[in-house]
Amino acid sequence: MTNLTSWLYVDLDIIADNIKAIKEYIGPVKLLAVVKADAYGHGIFPVASCAVENGADYLGVSSVEEGIFLRKKGIIAPVLIFNTILPEQAEDVVNFNLTSTICSIESVKAVDEAAKKCGKKARVHLKIDTGMGRFGILPKDVVEFTAKIYSGFNNIYLEGLYTHFSLASNEGNTRKQFNLFSSLINELKKKGIEIPLKHACNSTALLNYKDMHLDMVRSGNLVYGMCPTSKIKTKNPSQLYSKIVFLKTLPKGHHVGYGNKFTTKKTTTIAIIPFGYYEGLGLTVHQPSNAVDVLKYLLKHLLTALGIRKQDRIVTIKGVKCNILGKISMQNSIIDVTDIRDKVSIGDVAELNARRINISSSVARVYHKENRIFTE
Ligand SMILES: *Cc1c(COP(=O)(O)O)cnc(C)c1O
Repeated sequence: MTNLTSWLYVDLDIIADNIKAIKEYIGPVKLLAVVKADAYGHGIFPVASCAVENGADYLGVSSVEEGIFLRKKGIIAPVLIFNTILPEQAEDVVNFNLTSTICSIESVKAVDEAAKKCGKKARVHLKIDTGMGRFGILPKDVVEFTAKIYSGFNNIYLEGLYTHFSLASNEGNTRKQFNLFSSLINELKKKGIEIPLKHACNSTALLNYKDMHLDMVRSGNLVYGMCPTSKIKTKNPSQLYSKIVFLKTLPKGHHVGYGNKFTTKKTTTIAIIPFGYYEGLGLTVHQPSNAVDVLKYLLKHLLTALGIRKQDRIVTIKGVKCNILGKISMQNSIIDVTDIRDKVSIGDVAELNARRINISSSVARVYHKENRIFTE
């Protein structure tokens, strides 16, 4: 561990506590722990194991590949694949006992055939598009589609029915979607169709609208302590670290980094960490898309340039906040350590802020669990 230069520390005990806190909040409702995107960057297998050990009933991933990976690692809990599958993936889905999301008759056919071939019943969840405009069948087609599944496909077990909210923070919008979903559940009920697992809520929705929990909730952000709320005590389980590998003092008027974007205004001591945009630093995912967003974006940058607002590109070394200077390079970044130059040495550890989901899988994940430290 000590010879790593950069690593993401992940405290599985905190993830366990977060899961327990969610479970306490939702009571008898089932919990699907979302572990897609490498568990939001924390590492899919250790997090999935931790979630199951602490009472998650279901796991959620985006792709068949992620599902197979979990199975090969020995995870036996139910795994729902959120994205719709291609017909040629049906056999893998069935063989590995993965639950697929159904939103077209072609995928139903493919899964049914694969299940027949394997002598199994394949679990599927039907997704309804109540407003997100992404995967799912439209509400007007639900009754007919469901009836078709029941009448024509004997190797399919329609275990679940779900929808996804597009703006869970907005109650009006979410209620509209939920009411539509509820009315479809009732319509099916009238036709004698009862599907055991109905689910709609993500983290924000499960926190804010307890009446929408139905049979199961799907939570990612809360598991990773990324949904600040007073309703549940969840904590951030991770911290990113990189060691200083080089120190140097530059004279006043010296350029720093690509594009000569920064020039020293005085004698400046710089420290280099081997962590750049390839590793996931300084990537901004948010692109302003409307006039208000553009104005906010410009204002933010203006205030930062005027020194009124603290810049985002800050790392902490020995408890002191230091700025990243100039452009972030592909695999390193230059930090201004002038204020602490007498205290820093090569090998000192800097605490970085990066979007966890953007941290490259090339960066080691170091886990803490019950007094044990390990890497995957
Ligand atoms: C990612 C995802 C979630 C989890 O959302 P959070 O806001 O992280 O809780 C739930 N459902 C589906 C379908 C998703 O794709």
